[in-house]
Formats: sequence, structure tokens, C-alpha cells
Amino acid sequence: MNKMSFVDLAAQQSVLGEQIDRAISGVLAHGSYNMGPEIRELEEVLAARAQRRHCVSCASGTDALQMALMALGAGPGDRVVVPDFTFVATAEAVCLVGAEPVFADVDPATYNLEADSVAKAWELPGRPPIGIVAVDLFGHPADCEVLERLAHSHGAWLVVDGAQSFGARTNGVSAMASGVMATTSFYPSKPLGAYGDGGAVFCDDDDLNSALRSIRVHGAGDEPYVHERIGLTGRLDTIQAAILLSKLTVFDDELRKRRDVARHYTDALCDLVSTPTPRSGVEPVWAQYTVEVERRGDLRPELTRVGIPTSVFYPYPLHANPAYSTFPVVPGGVPVTERVTQRVLSLPMHPYLGGSEQDLVISSFLTALSHL
Ligand SMILES: *Cc1c(COP(=O)(O)O)cnc(C)c1O
Repeated sequence: MNKMSFVDLAAQQSVLGEQIDRAISGVLAHGSYNMGPEIRELEEVLAARAQRRHCVSCASGTDALQMALMALGAGPGDRVVVPDFTFVATAEAVCLVGAEPVFADVDPATYNLEADSVAKAWELPGRPPIGIVAVDLFGHPADCEVLERLAHSHGAWLVVDGAQSFGARTNGVSAMASGVMATTSFYPSKPLGAYGDGGAVFCDDDDLNSALRSIRVHGAGDEPYVHERIGLTGRLDTIQAAILLSKLTVFDDELRKRRDVARHYTDALCDLVSTPTPRSGVEPVWAQYTVEVERRGDLRPELTRVGIPTSVFYPYPLHANPAYSTFPVVPGGVPVTERVTQRVLSLPMHPYLGGSEQDLVISSFLTALSHL
């Protein structure tokens, strides 16, 4: 058996075969490297899948968040609640627009924002938060119904950082359909990944859609060289759009395969360690399959030794990072984040992980566990 990959993009490339080459050649042939016809086509396909009126593609998941915050007018003096347990980009985008992140705790079962903890952000002295950015961590949609109600009760908004959850659903509704806007990422290892950076913002509101499209290209207005606002160079490359259109042809099949891997892992491991527990009605996209273990520091090297790649998403609470240590944490702190950052371990997860590879992950995991 070849060396096992944590995420096997080469296997996917061989399944897609010449389709990818044709997609790239098509862009080289028409030469519209920026804002070519594939961009509109992709945005229409993605908006339909997201059950949203608008999709604005952009250069990365981080740009998508920043553009959403810019479109909402978030800036200096504003506070935005974010989970303390997430990828850094969630809080980074808040800082990039000059606003201040407030770190809240997550639910121990879903790792997503916990509403009671979020509510405490309004007890902090100083300016009340203007919004919440919820994250669908590991591809499990956050409880946006509850979070949106909480936000609205304070006259605030909810934005969904769905960088890991494009394709996930709650009671049949796309994870991208929650919040005033939802964002996603096409970083290569995400469930829907490009061959480079990319992202998108989803919304229903026409004014937000226009603002996002303007922000994406230097704050452009209707008239050339008349800039209505401060913007970015935030476009998605046409080549990446063509690649994503090609990958979408196998995406649903890939999601089914990810679910099968997750089910196999859970059946084998749930009696021994803490395995993922989706909320009822939730169909996660299984961006990661993450378990909790007591002695991660001993278990992980043992798995590495026998050729099983693992990852730790994420080893530190965001507020513990040097760059984020000056920002507020909600009253009462973030005990769940403090605990799970010490315990989480993500196992190999991708659609092309074969049955024998899954068995090897499971048997190696059980062996390593029994040696502790
Ligand atoms: C990957 C990720 C991002 C950032 O996406 P990029 O495309 O890498 O900029 C933001 N938030 C979360 C939760 C992510 O996992």
C-alpha cells in the first residue's frame, strides 16, 4: 500500500482525469483570466446549491469574511463575537476591518458556538457587539437558528463562516443559507477545494450583493475609475472557477463517500473514545473527522510511527495566541475550548480513503490506544 494521505488530492485528480485539463485549457483558449465566463457560471451553480439568491466568488475564505464584514460596515470601535475554537482567519478578518473580536466558548458536543456563552459578550463593559460570526467547525453546521435569534434580540447580525461546511445541511437546508451572509473557502483541502486559493460569499439581499461586488474590485462603482468605497483585489481566478465547476460534477458522490468513512470510523471507535456527534437533522460535510483522546501527546507519535497521518485542529485557543491575547474573552471564560484544544485529534478523511485504509486507521488507532 502507498503511503496514506491525510487528504488525498492526487486520487481525486486521477478520478477527474482529463476533465480538469479541459477546464484549464478552456480558460487558456478564451484568455479571460479574470472575471471570465466561468465565474458567472460558477456563481450561479453555487448560489443554487446554497439556496441563496446571490453568490459572490472571491480570492479566499478569509477575503470572503473580510468582504462580508466590510459590506456590513464593521470597523473601528465595533465588537464582533467569534468562537475561541476555530481557524485563526475567523478572528483575523474581524481585526483586518479594524473591529475587535470577542472570544466565546463552544459546545462540547459540536465544537460550535454555544449560545449561553455568546450571550455573555453583551455583559462585557464597553460597547455591545454589533454581530456574531458563527463557524461550522469540521463541516458541522452551527445552531444558527438559536444564534440568529440571540443576535436579533440585541439588534445585531449573524454571519456564518462556512469555510469548512459547503455542502452541509440542517433539515435539508444548506449551511450557506443561514445568517445575513455566509462565507466559504475553496482552499485545496476543504471539501470543495480549488487548485489554489478561492472563496465565496452568499446572501439574499440585493444591496449587500452590490456592495460585495464593488468591494471585490477596489470599491468600483458603475462608472469606470469612480470608486464608491474602499475595496480589495478580491477576485477569484477564472482558472479556479473552471476547476471548481469540474469538481462539482463529482462533489455529491464525494460527500456520500465522506459520510461512509465517518460512519465506519464512528461504528468502530464510539465505545472507546469521544467521536463526533452531529445535532439531530444535521448532515455534516465531514471536512474533518475529529475524536477526543486523553493522551494525545503519546497516541499521536505512535500513529505517525505506523504510517497513519493525523492532525490537530486546533492546538491552542485563539485568545492564547500572541497576536490575539489583548482581545476580550466573555465573562466566565472558555473552559470547553481550553479542554478540547488539549484533546482533539483528526483522523485521515477524504472521499478516496479505501476500505482497507479505513480498517488500517481503525486497527492502528485501537492498538495505539491499548498501549497507553
Ligand atoms: C480555511 C478557513 C478559513 C479561511 O479560508 P482561506 O480560504 O484559507 O482564506 C476561515 N475560516 C475557517 C473556519 C477555515 O477553516
